[in-house]
Formats: sequence, structure tokens, C-alpha cells
Amino acid sequence: MNCILYARVSTDRQAEKDLSIPAQLGAMRAFAHQRNWLVSEEFVEPGASAKTAERPALQALLARVRDPKLQTDVVLVHKIDRLARNVYDHATIKALLTQRRIQLASVVENVDDSVPGQLVENIMASIAQFYSANLSEEVKKGMRQKVLRGGWPHLPPRGYVSVRDADGCGSHVEVHPRLGPLVSCAFELYATGHYGLRALALRLCDDGLASRSGRPIPISQVRRLLANPFYAGRVVWRGVDIRGAHPPLAAPELFERVQELLKSRRRDVGRQGSVRGFVLRGVATCAQCRGRMTAEQHGKWRYYRCSRQSYSRQRCSARFCRADVAHADLERVCNAVMLNRSVTEAIRQQTEQLIAGRGAQRESQADTLKQDLAKLGQREVALTEAFSAGTLSPTEYRRRVLALRERRRELERLTRQPPIPDEQLRARIKSILDVATSLWDLYQPLDDERRNRLLTLVFRLIVIGPEGILGYTLNRPFDELRKSPKDAARLVASLDA
Ligand SMILES: [Zn+2]
Repeated sequence: MNCILYARVSTDRQAEKDLSIPAQLGAMRAFAHQRNWLVSEEFVEPGASAKTAERPALQALLARVRDPKLQTDVVLVHKIDRLARNVYDHATIKALLTQRRIQLASVVENVDDSVPGQLVENIMASIAQFYSANLSEEVKKGMRQKVLRGGWPHLPPRGYVSVRDADGCGSHVEVHPRLGPLVSCAFELYATGHYGLRALALRLCDDGLASRSGRPIPISQVRRLLANPFYAGRVVWRGVDIRGAHPPLAAPELFERVQELLKSRRRDVGRQGSVRGFVLRGVATCAQCRGRMTAEQHGKWRYYRCSRQSYSRQRCSARFCRADVAHADLERVCNAVMLNRSVTEAIRQQTEQLIAGRGAQRESQADTLKQDLAKLGQREVALTEAFSAGTLSPTEYRRRVLALRERRRELERLTRQPPIPDEQLRARIKSILDVATSLWDLYQPLDDERRNRLLTLVFRLIVIGPEGILGYTLNRPFDELRKSPKDAARLVASLDA
């Protein structure tokens, strides 16, 4: 049998317990000799680098192990923990060795019976998820690489096909011989201005560009198709926007013209859906099913009607509410959510103090964050040690490590986030307090469009029954103010976030 040796000393606090490299090698050679194993290669980690994440000798060893031409049966270490510094690395390496049918042996422990050996076997099962999580990170990395080369990492959109590369390793996007020209045609037709989305969908269906069931493509999808920059030869993917390697189906000028048209027609829809006479548009909510309500006008009568009800009676049986009835309730509702001036004055003063204290607070917060991050690191080490010692089950270990990492990500996000400048925060608080104290006064002189904007700013939804307004939910931070009007800290926190 052939074997490969791997030796390393740690540079941390365990150093004094370690055998030196020559001693480790000596013990391993003797061990191999006793078993008639032929030592074919030796990998020795240079001392200083053991601390860094990339241990070159281990990387070289793993690269060797991955080499299909390698003829070896055993990887021998002095102690199991020489190979990997944590159980995850260990399990990963073990998985690689198992896959290549290479045995892992240790001078000190009998690998498969040893506690770490058992551990590894246990971990193999419990770690599978982690492993696949890592794998998906790798996959994502691969996808990003592909995108940066102008490729597309997913199934290509309508009108294109994915074709395997000549070397069989990857794939690239080509124009679908039949559907591609139809997609080009869709852009040209729409650009003429003579086609609406529905008419275009029907025309395309006649020409042979249809949904899988053979029916016209839904309008929302036609719109998405026309707005997809991929057709103009661009690859837009997770913050990347570059020229793709695929042939465009719409010339950039044509694509831009289509975007203009799409935008202008949307505005038309907006004009039709005017808030004139319907200041509750967008916040009106059905009291019975909590569905959105639509605004309707029949002759001189205006109504709010549950959108589900207008779609099908069976879905909601709520009766409509006359718009003037609902609007008449607005004064009551606005007054109900208004804060009294002495309360807001107290809030204003408290927030001033808080803003003044922000500088010091920010520094101490940064310190606390740093300390918390360090503590998290220590706890993860402690967990891993407890796990290695067998006092923690793999499931429990994983659960806790996951929780730690979640918390770490959150803290790291906080450390990166720049705080809002004092002036901006002050201005935001002022305008919020102005609205909170004078909602009805502010509301009255406005035109319907501004009234509607003010209402949607303050209210998340206003619940409407046939007799008028029955309730409401406030948006942040107005809900915070209602919950604890005197708690300025909460207001600042909700704005600071
Ligand atoms: Zn309803």
C-alpha cells in the first residue's frame, strides 16, 4: 500500500503540546514501516503559515488527492487534529478522501474508533446540509463568473435556447430558430404604437409565440418580455449590468423606444386610475376579507368596492361603501390619530437630547459591537470544543452555530451601516411630528392627489365597511408614536434604522 504523510504544528496556544515536525514525521514513518506501507509523498506545512486560512501544504495535498492519476491508499497524519482545525474542514476532507477511496490513518488514534473518528462519522450525516450550503455558495460564485463573462446562468428567456459548448463543459445562449424572430417582431410591432399589450399577445399567438398551453401569453408576461434588457443584448444580474455574449433580438434604439412607450402607456393607466374623488384609493381595505378596495364611479355616484367582490361575488360578499360616506369619516379618523401638542413637544425635547447624545452613543455602540463580535467568535470556538469533546450533539451544535452566524451577520451589517446625519434625522422627526400633530389641518386645504399622498403616508390601510370607516392601521413611525407617544428613543431608533 502507498501512503502520503501530512505534518503540521499549530502556532497557537497548543504549540507546546505539539510534537515538532521532525518528531511527527519520524513517528509517521515508523508507523508506516510497521504496516509495510510505502511512503510516496510527504507534505509539511511551513510553521508560520499554519495560522492563515490557506495552508499551502494541505491545499497541495488536497489537490493531489483530487488528481485521478494519484495511486495512494492512505493519508497518514500524526494526530487527527493535524489535518483540520475544525470539524467542518475535517468532514470535508474526509468526504473527499472517502470519495477517492483513500483511507485516513492516524499514528495516535485509531481513526474509525477514536472519538474524532466517531465524530467524523456523526458529522458526515449532520454536516451534509452545511456541505451543500457551501456547495451552493460555490455554485453562486460560478454563476457570477459566468455572468461576468457575459453569459447567462439561468434558463434563457423566450426566443433563446441554451446550447452546450463544444468542449461539453458549459453552455451558451443562442437564438431559437423559430421563436427568436417572433420576439424581434414583437418589439417592432409594439414600437409602431399600433398595438396594446393585449393585441400584441393575440397577434403573437397567431404567429406562433404562445404560452405552453398554446394560449396567448398573459399580458403581464408580455410587458415583462418587452422590458427585459436581455433582448437588447444586456446581462442584468444581481447588480451586474454588462453586455452579454448572446446576440440581441432588439437593437438598443428599438429597445429604448419600446421602454418609452411602455412608460407613457403606464402613465395613461395612472390617469384613468386618478384619485380625484377617491382620496382613499390605495389604502381602502375591505372590512370583511381585508382585500383591497377599488374605486368605482357609476354616473354621479362614487363607491369603494372590495376588489374580490367585484371580481366574483363568491369570493367576498361585502357590500360597497359610498365614497362620500367613507370620506365623511376621515375627519374623525384623522383627529383620532393626532397627537396632542404637549405630547409632541415632550417628544421633540427628548429627541433633541438623544440627538445630542448620539455622537458618544455611536462610539460606545461601535465598541459594544466590536466586543459582541469578539464574544461571538469565542463562543463559536467554545461550542466547537464542546462538540469535539462529545458533550454536544451534532444537531445541537449545528443549531447553535447557525444561530451564532446569523447573529454575526446581523452585527456585521450594523457595523457597516452609516448612521443618518443629525440634521437629516432632526428634519425627519420634525416633519413626522408636524404630521402627527396637525394631520387634519394639513389635510383639508390639499387637492385630492395630495390628500391621497398624505393618507397613504400615514395609514397603511383604512378598513371600510358599508357604513363607513371601521378601523385603520398606521405606517411606521406613526404606529410607534401611538404605541408609546412619550418614548422618543423609540422614534429615533425607528428612524435611525
Ligand atoms: Zn372583501
